[in-house]
Amino acid sequence: MRASTLDIVRQAQEGGYAVGAFNVFDDLSLRSVVQAASAAGSPVIIQFSVRTARAMGVDLVTAMFHAAADAATVPVSLHLDHCPDVSVIEDVVRAGWSSVLFDASHLGLAEAREQTRRVVDLAHARGVEVESEIENIVGVEDGVGSDVLTHAYSESELVEIAAETGADLLAPQLGTAHGLYKGRPVLRPDRVTALRKLSDMPIVLHGGTGLTDAEFRTFIDAGVSKINVSTAIKRIYMEASAEALRTARDANRWEPLPVFDAISARVAETVTAHLEAFGSVARASGGSR
Ligand SMILES: [Zn+2]
Repeated sequence: MRASTLDIVRQAQEGGYAVGAFNVFDDLSLRSVVQAASAAGSPVIIQFSVRTARAMGVDLVTAMFHAAADAATVPVSLHLDHCPDVSVIEDVVRAGWSSVLFDASHLGLAEAREQTRRVVDLAHARGVEVESEIENIVGVEDGVGSDVLTHAYSESELVEIAAETGADLLAPQLGTAHGLYKGRPVLRPDRVTALRKLSDMPIVLHGGTGLTDAEFRTFIDAGVSKINVSTAIKRIYMEASAEALRTARDANRWEPLPVFDAISARVAETVTAHLEAFGSVARASGGSR
């Protein structure tokens, strides 16, 4: 069933678990995530990058999402990941997506504050929720982002700016990075604890790929309630594709559907493992929107 990102995340906050927000890039990855969440009785957030939304077209993504979510037995919401471009946000707001991440992390504070406020106004006018990011989360993802930490603020500044702009969810820098880790990251669950003391605004953890279950648990216990997973999904999808195509070639049997089934099963396995680590299994209840 279609649901609102904020409703899903607020329920997670109350229940002491986190909701997985998985980046998908075609109908197969979308259906695999939704089916895995349905089978696990877990709420789930579907995310598209700006690049994928542009490549497929917002209308096609929206229609695919509606078909998949309406067939699901759990609450599912549709979110636009890292978007610095107001025109794309306008498109998905018009299309009725549940939420957007306005990425202002490349901007100086005054500009970030001003633009975030404007995006919140235009999104809220249509009932769309806004995740705000003004500190840059290290790593480049689908052409957005930077490998260098350039903008960082105190926890009280973050809370103050989020409250003032009217944002619904907060994505702070927590020591994680986009992509695959080269060394062990220095994680900052202490920042979540500090933010939690100042505000009950839901906190989002980016760069979920490569953390251990114990590290996820530490963040969730500190108060994170949405965890983004992108690289792990892309990687398993591509590895499973390569394997399935090798099998087809070895058998000289060129049927696409078994290949899709093999990929879907592996993506679903990865999703299920994350849902278990996040504690969201069997938490699904009624959705809205
Ligand atoms: Zn991210």
